[in-house]
Amino acid sequence: MKISIDGWDAGIRFVAGHFLPSIEKCSRLHGHNYALTIILEGEPDRNGIILDFIKLKEAASKLIEKIDHRMLLPDSGKSMTVRRSGDSISVRFGGKRYQFPASDVVMMPLENVSAEELSAYFAEELARSGIFGSNVRSVSVGVSEGRGQEAWTERHLA
Ligand SMILES: [Zn+2]
Repeated sequence: MKISIDGWDAGIRFVAGHFLPSIEKCSRLHGHNYALTIILEGEPDRNGIILDFIKLKEAASKLIEKIDHRMLLPDSGKSMTVRRSGDSISVRFGGKRYQFPASDVVMMPLENVSAEELSAYFAEELARSGIFGSNVRSVSVGVSEGRGQEAWTERHLA
């Protein structure tokens, strides 16, 4: 059995800036209105539910709060050089140099801030959040960069 939350309708959305240095168009600084869709697979517990929707939305909202209206940079990106000095963070790749106030930036534990890697990040963070009972077998997260364009990761739970 499955339950799902569609971030567009359920308000699990955030706005963020990013770039993907190795893709020409995406290497220019831009942003997206992102939404998360979350699917849980499992069996209903003795109360007849897989998980309280409110708990799932709260856990997802907590993750989103940290990155909403921020510039997202990869902390292990091989395609760019990221340096912090004082209150600013500078990024270099392909002859370009950007500088951001450190307070506007969130360093993500990713190689690329792509929808694909973001979906893996959210699936992992939700798996670690401790909100799932033993009746939940897997959590899947879809990261949408706009309606009709999503990347998905399915994370099985032990
Ligand atoms: Zn983009």
